[in-house]
Amino acid sequence: MASAAKAAVEAVQDGVHKLGLKESKKKDAKAPPSAKELFRAAMTNVLERRLFFIPSFKIYGSVAGFYDFGPPGCAIKQNVTQLWRQHFILEESMLEVECPAVTPEAVLKASGHVDRFTDFMVTDMKTGECHRADHLLKAALEALLEDPKAGLTPEKKTEAEDVLARIDELDSIGLGTALTRYGVKTPDTKNDISAPFPFNLMFRTSIGPKGDAVGYLRPETAQGIFVNFKDLLYYNGGKLPFAAAQIGQSYRNEISPRAGLLRVREFTQAEIEHFVNPDDKDHPKFESIQQLKPLLFSQELQTNETKQPEAMSLGDAVTNKIIANQTLAYFIGRTYLFLVGIGISPKRLRFRQHLPNEMAHYAADCWDAEVECSYGWVECVGLADRSAYDLRAHSDASNQALEAYEKFPEPRFAQVLVAKPEKAKIGKLYKKEGKPLLEKLDNLSQEDAACMKKSFGEGKPATVSAGGRDFEVTPDLLDIQEKEEKLNGRKFTPSVIEPSFGIGRIIYCMFEHAYYTRQNNEDKSVFRFKAAVAPLKAAVFPLVQQPEMNSTARSISAALTRAGLANTVDTTGTTIGKRYARTDELGVPYDITVDRASIDGDGSVTLRERDSTSQVRVHKEKVAAVVQQLVSGELTWQNVLDTFPAQQPAAEEEA
Ligand code: AMP
Repeated sequence: MASAAKAAVEAVQDGVHKLGLKESKKKDAKAPPSAKELFRAAMTNVLERRLFFIPSFKIYGSVAGFYDFGPPGCAIKQNVTQLWRQHFILEESMLEVECPAVTPEAVLKASGHVDRFTDFMVTDMKTGECHRADHLLKAALEALLEDPKAGLTPEKKTEAEDVLARIDELDSIGLGTALTRYGVKTPDTKNDISAPFPFNLMFRTSIGPKGDAVGYLRPETAQGIFVNFKDLLYYNGGKLPFAAAQIGQSYRNEISPRAGLLRVREFTQAEIEHFVNPDDKDHPKFESIQQLKPLLFSQELQTNETKQPEAMSLGDAVTNKIIANQTLAYFIGRTYLFLVGIGISPKRLRFRQHLPNEMAHYAADCWDAEVECSYGWVECVGLADRSAYDLRAHSDASNQALEAYEKFPEPRFAQVLVAKPEKAKIGKLYKKEGKPLLEKLDNLSQEDAACMKKSFGEGKPATVSAGGRDFEVTPDLLDIQEKEEKLNGRKFTPSVIEPSFGIGRIIYCMFEHAYYTRQNNEDKSVFRFKAAVAPLKAAVFPLVQQPEMNSTARSISAALTRAGLANTVDTTGTTIGKRYARTDELGVPYDITVDRASIDGDGSVTLRERDSTSQVRVHKEKVAAVVQQLVSGELTWQNVLDTFPAQQPAAEEEA
């Protein structure tokens, strides 16, 4: 067995802390590690050894759910966010914002996070250790279905598969019932567990020295965009549609973060809020993506017999009403292009539609971009048509109209609802507190007026949220009449379509899709990163330690740097083969070696491509420009092979 794989097996068997392997060790100490676990352990070994990422606060024993990015990790994250900015913000002319992570309670109360941003938790009845209820149930069901000794009847098997497929839909009662039915205990101690109860995932803090202003670290970046909607709309000349975007840190106090970078307590999100007229969700650039055929896993495909996603054109998916509208499909297409462009394998990428019970009641449609990795299918991007929910919630709580205005091409005559509040009565009933209510009733939207009229018609009072509280409004407080009016336009609350990216998850999945060991040489690990993502674009080696070769290597490095290409010079005297292996582990796409011919001969150096390991000779003055063209995609490696003389790998390389 090659040493990387051997190390992985030993890591599992010895219980050494290797990311993601602790759990499997606990599952069954005697079980040999699966191929996926071995792959992950070998890759994680490289990632940690070469400082792509490191458990944070390591010298103090680390804290679960926090990771530092080391030098290559930082460079990759920077490259991925830069590509994201180019692909979405620049190409779509989005408005970028940067808002604070510390957020006052009022904002997150309005958004629903204070009351509902929870996961269900269970505790070990003896040790008090905390676990996520759905994760315990999932692990127990997977173990049951995989266990040949369980002797499940076909009916019991189907039932277990069904619960597994619908786990995200279960509420606390559903989870509790399923945990009891399958006799789930804690995995480590095998003790009984408590009934599931909700746990709020936000980190709470206080703002200011008195400590009485409650704040939270934001659990998502989106709210910063919603609260700035009015100003952003103004900045955009009052026109819809437009999109705003934010890249920044988000914080979630995950109950039991285990799966390496996939579930952490602080992570980078890149979120877009695309504001659109609810009556027109077509997208002007839909044509550019409608032929794309990503794997779609619709509600229907998830619940039919085969439960398999299908490659389907986005055009057909919208025509057949599988995806609710063009704008949502457009972002699915753009997300597909972005993920594949940075190195996610299209065969291991699917878009899964939320099942009806998984979807928030206000959402028109939701899809997750899921990527397959050694942990299974992982949600990396959430894409949701959230209708007008967020803007309405902030409008109600802040008492600010968060609306857009649509001017009609020609004035229209229409029946409109005119609402007249009885100011004296409201003042008498609610005193000073009635002020926000009056403001709200004075500016009632047609949708709200229609809702209230309906309630009154049914003999019921209407509930109006204003100034952070609910008011009961009866017909004697508000007169609503229908009238014909000449309208030049209308006010409305825009819908929002939200693609939400987790940068860390995407990078982790990209690591898995890029990692391999060389055929016939299992010891040598390689990351086949796309050049645009690679932490360094080139490495320059003087063949032997000699002043002239060192100085030529340094001037090539300087030319690469001037061309904006991150690079390194390795003047260690180790064999060229070892130096190639080191850069392959970092995923560096091109290596340049300065040898005798570069100094005394024709002035050429060797240029090696990482994955084919083939080499050509290029003049030392030209090589930086060739690498630049390769990295930008102007040249392919095949073009280079066709243009420059081949170089047979040196004897040292095979060492
Ligand atoms: P959500 O708001 O839960 O839909 O999350 C949006 C995106 O953020 C997800 O698709 C993930 O990529 C990412 N994400 C959510 N929670 C975490 C976490 N605990 N660790 C890393 N990434 C996360």
